[in-house]
Amino acid sequence: MTAASNATPPTQTLDVQPTPLALLLLGREADPRSERGVECPGDLPSPSDPDLVARARAAKERLGDRVFVLGHHYQRDEVIEFADVTGDSFKLAREAAARPDAEYIVFCGVHFMAESADILTSDDQQVVLPDLAAGCSMADMATAEQVAECWDVLAEAGVSEQTVPVAYMNSSADIKSFTGRHGGTICTSSNAARALGWAFEQVDPDRGKVLFLPDQHLGRNTAVRDMGMSLEDCVVYNPHKPNGGLTPEELRDARMILWRGHCSVHGRFSVDSVRDVRERMPGVNVLVHPECKNEVVAAADFVGSTEYIINTLEAAPAGSKWAIGTELNLVRRLANRYAAEGKEIAFLDRTVCFCSTMNRIDLPHLVWALESLADGTTVNRIQVDRETEKFAKLALERMLALP
Ligand code: SF4
Repeated sequence: MTAASNATPPTQTLDVQPTPLALLLLGREADPRSERGVECPGDLPSPSDPDLVARARAAKERLGDRVFVLGHHYQRDEVIEFADVTGDSFKLAREAAARPDAEYIVFCGVHFMAESADILTSDDQQVVLPDLAAGCSMADMATAEQVAECWDVLAEAGVSEQTVPVAYMNSSADIKSFTGRHGGTICTSSNAARALGWAFEQVDPDRGKVLFLPDQHLGRNTAVRDMGMSLEDCVVYNPHKPNGGLTPEELRDARMILWRGHCSVHGRFSVDSVRDVRERMPGVNVLVHPECKNEVVAAADFVGSTEYIINTLEAAPAGSKWAIGTELNLVRRLANRYAAEGKEIAFLDRTVCFCSTMNRIDLPHLVWALESLADGTTVNRIQVDRETEKFAKLALERMLALP
């Protein structure tokens, strides 16, 4: 469990609910079923305040080395401008851990990332998420209760002892903790194949299985592309159906038990998007994130994590053309950055596709968080309880020790 706290009230326990509505419109709308909290205690600056940039700079200067601001690649430009370091979720959690002198870690990302930063930093460091509504629909698709129930189903089918959980970094602290408690590891989109290789070494080669949480697409793509498995080796556990919608025989025969979760952003790309962009941009290289569906990954030319996408475009020759299947804020930033080098970079789909919860962190929330800290008030602190932290950390440490 995690708590998020403000000066008033001091502590707010988060009630994590599954997310029936994956995508929200941009703006201030609230869906209490899918968001952890949208209240912003205190006065949020107006988005039209012409002094926002100056206020953010001034507050950051007042805080000096006491604050370290992390910016995920999918954040808005107006927020990224104030990040001391940018990266994917894992890189940012490690960056936070490498700054033991920073009293405050302001995490411009989403909730599970701030949790991971809290787990990896010391107890006297405070991790702040500028807007508590910045959740992740994928992470919310696997709750602690649902996963515990799934484990019971696996036990009933007689397969839990030969199953190792592997949880994607994009999961709540509760799920990471479950994973650590049951002998599993965390993975990122960069090291998922190594994590699966390690997991299968822990079990009987003929009967062993992995329960992959919560992103079915990353699990399936890694199993099929990197581990030489077939699509038939994978089954999907649906937490909204009795026994996950699977028979004991199906569970016994499977090698990969994939949780029925997905990213609302990457799940939107389709084979039609790939076909369409190849017609629009002859000679284009299609590069997608492994959170995309398997058929999209199969139709692409290159597949890799956010860091892989950035490095590939950095190394691409002048004159090359790219269509990128990942979050739009990052694609737009990369397109602008490399236009001067003659690299043509387009978004894979014709429709706009931001991560709506990432976009919750905007300049008014960042200014509010920084000014509150500079005035001596900690707001929106994200704190993972010790018991959860203990096993979540164990799972994270197993990932760090992967060969
Ligand atoms: S891009 Fe997808 S996985 Fe990442 S925070 Fe948004 S919904 Fe979650």
